[in-house]
Amino acid sequence: MTENKNFIYSTIEKDFSESGEFFGKKIHTRFPPEPNGFLHIGHAKAIFINFLAAEKFGGVCNLRMDDTNPSKEDTIFVESIKRDIKWLGFDTEKNLHYASDYFEDMYEFAKKLIKKNLAYVCDLSPEETKKFRGDLKTPATSPFRNRSIEENLDLFERMRNSEFEDGAKTLRAKIDLFSGNFNMRDPVLYRIMKKTHHRTGNNWPIYPMYDYAHPIEDAIENITHSLCTLEFEDHKPLYEWVINNIDINNKPKRIEFSRLNLDHTVMSKRKLKFLVDKKLVLGWDDPRMPTISGLRRRGFTPDSIKNFCQQIGVSKSVSTIEYQVLENCLRDDLNLKANRIMAVLDPVKLIIENYPENKEEEFEIENNPNSNSAGKRKIIFGKNLFVERSDFLKEKTKNFFRLFPGSTVRLKSAYAITCTSFREDSDGNITEIFCKYHPETFGGKNLDGVKIKSTIHWVNTNYCFNAQANIYDSLFNCENPESESDFLKYINKNSLKILKNCKIENNLKNCKPGDTFQFLRNGYFCLDSIDKSSNIMIFNKTVSLKSSYKK
Ligand code: ATP
Ligand code: MG
Repeated sequence: MTENKNFIYSTIEKDFSESGEFFGKKIHTRFPPEPNGFLHIGHAKAIFINFLAAEKFGGVCNLRMDDTNPSKEDTIFVESIKRDIKWLGFDTEKNLHYASDYFEDMYEFAKKLIKKNLAYVCDLSPEETKKFRGDLKTPATSPFRNRSIEENLDLFERMRNSEFEDGAKTLRAKIDLFSGNFNMRDPVLYRIMKKTHHRTGNNWPIYPMYDYAHPIEDAIENITHSLCTLEFEDHKPLYEWVINNIDINNKPKRIEFSRLNLDHTVMSKRKLKFLVDKKLVLGWDDPRMPTISGLRRRGFTPDSIKNFCQQIGVSKSVSTIEYQVLENCLRDDLNLKANRIMAVLDPVKLIIENYPENKEEEFEIENNPNSNSAGKRKIIFGKNLFVERSDFLKEKTKNFFRLFPGSTVRLKSAYAITCTSFREDSDGNITEIFCKYHPETFGGKNLDGVKIKSTIHWVNTNYCFNAQANIYDSLFNCENPESESDFLKYINKNSLKILKNCKIENNLKNCKPGDTFQFLRNGYFCLDSIDKSSNIMIFNKTVSLKSSYKK
């Protein structure tokens, strides 16, 4: 990340310097997702911050599954998280941890807090706890606050032994019922929840709350810098209270940074899950989703996401980034990496009248003018071609420089042609365009007396295959659906357009899912899958060639 755009790096640097609090230690960060959904582009920001900080300062970054709430978690999510982080370029096995591995430690630490008279068992229901929370003028209350240490130890053990029903009791920290920070008004540390955990099964009928579990996880793993998003800032005193009272040597330093918000999409896991569960998208990896797996399927590259995260920087100011900024990073990357190919998305036949019926010519063309290593490929020219329907108009029109009777255009990497006539069906749809070609114009040579203003792409009808192209638009048609109370109202019903009759140059016949190309003039596309029943290849439009971004 650019130095001047990352205040976290300067803090870390200071901390490991001779006068710093971690002098002599090695940096240790962590990325702690809760496995209750797929990761999204916001998580990518946190992933890069944590993993790159460890890389830059010569230490380690743990991947920690923060699996302390079995009601929403699943191994499917654990696997997807690993897959996505690996794809972004980081090791996910060497330093993989699970918060659930520390359940026993957390339980012991809780008993210690009880013995220090810093925690008590409370019988208020969740609703009552809320009701007795007080306000700025009145303190919170709990009639159970003065239970003896012995009684608390006994009740807590019985909670652990499944003697009470869900919600019947909690373990609360004894901090300050009148604190101005409501998180400090005797927060709940443990709740009873008889749910099967995806790793610990039915071993535990009680589960720790995030604010209690997280500092312990960090401390046990010897984390030096616990980097998290700003919404946890108000919870910091509680984080520090836990660390300071459980008697553990390691005291991680918490630093908060602002979350990534993107326009035209939602990023809360709850909303993303809703879209998936209600089948408003095709799954977590739908190419319209801002999830990492959705972006991957759409054709994004790990480098483009990394460059994006570096470009936006790390700060404490909250802002929303235009989706186009992300797309521009992708264009910059694909421009260097994606091979060019000719694909006609909405084909119409073009016949070259003066080209011999049985003649074929093989031309060698560059795969990518921006990459020397991309090599060349062969294309075959012939009498019968497909061109884009939108490249033809029946008559001369102002500012239209492509095909119409009498006009001359260049066929990409081949000859100049002049349109002579066309045929249409009874509905006025063009069925065939007739042209003659000018043999002397091969290799970009001029045609005497004619200024050629356009070059169009084409495929040979005998050397192309049928394919489907999925063209995407943004999932929401308002700028900030995240802040709308009814975000579903703004779902873009036309976010997917399917073109079923595309004609693609044969050179792409053996490409594999995930391969990305620039379809000349049409944008970047990647192979999504091959339809099993029809054997048709399905391409996703990744991004257009040019940005409509104005700023
Ligand atoms: P929810 O959407 O339910 O609030 P979450 O996105 O916070 O969940 P976690 O699994 O807890 O999900 O996130 C893991 C880490 O990723 C946390 O440290 C969190 O701060 C960070 N993170 C989550 N969303 C963003 C975001 N939009 N930008 C930057 N970091 C994020
Ligand atoms: Mg969270």
